[in-house]
Amino acid sequence: MGLLDGKIAIITGGSRGIGAAIVRKFMNEGASVAFTYRSSSAKADAIVAEFADSADRIIAIQSDASKYDEAESLVNQVIEKFGTVHILVNNAGITKDTLMLRMSEEQWDGVMEVNLKSVFNVTKHVIKPMMKNRLGSIINMSSVVGVFGNAGQANYAASKAGIIGFSKSIAKEVGSRNIRCNAVAPGFIATEMTDELDESTKKAYTDSIPLKRFGQGDDVANMCVFLGSDLSSYISGQVLSVCGAMNT
Ligand code: NAP
Repeated sequence: MGLLDGKIAIITGGSRGIGAAIVRKFMNEGASVAFTYRSSSAKADAIVAEFADSADRIIAIQSDASKYDEAESLVNQVIEKFGTVHILVNNAGITKDTLMLRMSEEQWDGVMEVNLKSVFNVTKHVIKPMMKNRLGSIINMSSVVGVFGNAGQANYAASKAGIIGFSKSIAKEVGSRNIRCNAVAPGFIATEMTDELDESTKKAYTDSIPLKRFGQGDDVANMCVFLGSDLSSYISGQVLSVCGAMNT
């Protein structure tokens, strides 16, 4: 028996990092999983191949989450294959870090479109089937940076703070239909996104984390399993940190 047996999930940005960890955990807990990627088709294919024994429960779809029409087509494809959708994990995200003095309009817009507009795009298209089912869990990947702010990440922090306001509003709007919506706020997690940091920055961050290490994708994926499962059936409208006590 898995915690997500019979549940149908969409996970955006599942080809790498935290999203790939969520895909694997959801598969291992019995969910049917449709995950997206933007360009890493080889990595996406490799994840699908890992689950050859359960090939009927997993599909990888190339879909740019920042594009409204592609989000609509994604949800339609998932409903065609699996019948409905019970869990949405809006995980896709990017950084374009720089100080405000140097930040271009392109760097601002690019981050807002991939990180924040994407959450609107995909949520918009799963709401109807979830309302019909009177069941749903929407999990939006924010960040501790969306709570605290961070120098050099005004665009990223604003997108992640926006996700928190969005999540709380959706929780209030559709709670009466038994749809829950929460934001997860990871601290520093070891993925390709944080690999870009130089060693001295990584050391400074590690020193500032009470648990004295970066988190792993699995640490965040475990929270998503909990939020997707019935174990969290009375938890909605919250920001749940997975940060080794950074956000304390
Ligand atoms: P990552 O390793 O860079 O992976 C990003 C994933 O998002 C990839 O699967 C990528 O697909 C996908 N993606 C990017 N743009 C997309 C788009 N327009 N449409 C669809 N998919 C897209 O990042 P990560 O570290 O796992 O981060 C995952 C989420 O957690 C992000 O929202 C990030 O902001 C958040 N987060 C991360 C940390 C951290 O420390 N790592 C901390 C707090 C929050 P491709 O492989 O095709 O490019």
